[in-house]
Amino acid sequence: MAISQVFTCDRCGAQAGRVALYARGEVTPGRTRHEIDSVMSAMDNSGAERARVQVESDVVNVTMFEFDVAATLSALSVGDARALHKLDLEFVPFWCPPCDAAFCGRHWVTWDLFDDGFFDEKRGRCPAGHERRLFD
Ligand SMILES: [Zn+2]
Ligand SMILES: [Zn+2]
Repeated sequence: MAISQVFTCDRCGAQAGRVALYARGEVTPGRTRHEIDSVMSAMDNSGAERARVQVESDVVNVTMFEFDVAATLSALSVGDARALHKLDLEFVPFWCPPCDAAFCGRHWVTWDLFDDGFFDEKRGRCPAGHERRLFD
């Protein structure tokens, strides 16, 4: 069964982000049993043969395959955002280290940086003015 945690915004209580760890072979909950839907589900789950972390948030959505499963599992099972951030800052793009708090998309100011015309990284500023890299 997937382990997941929902983090809420420190300012407004809205969902800031959801982080889920899927075991190897585990499929993302499917749609219906109609043929077209099963094709769509198969595409959703094209990475299902590998353990993966899915991050859903207003600032960044990302699926990652390269991570320390045991360490991630223990941090995620207790909802330890600081430990997750230490493992990979992209696990908790909605979380600000100095504030030790998560914020929703309305409370982050985000922008993209480009290097020579190519996307380089996404940065954000929390409501208290701390800046961090969200994704690269
Ligand atoms: Zn902050
Ligand atoms: Zn908020």
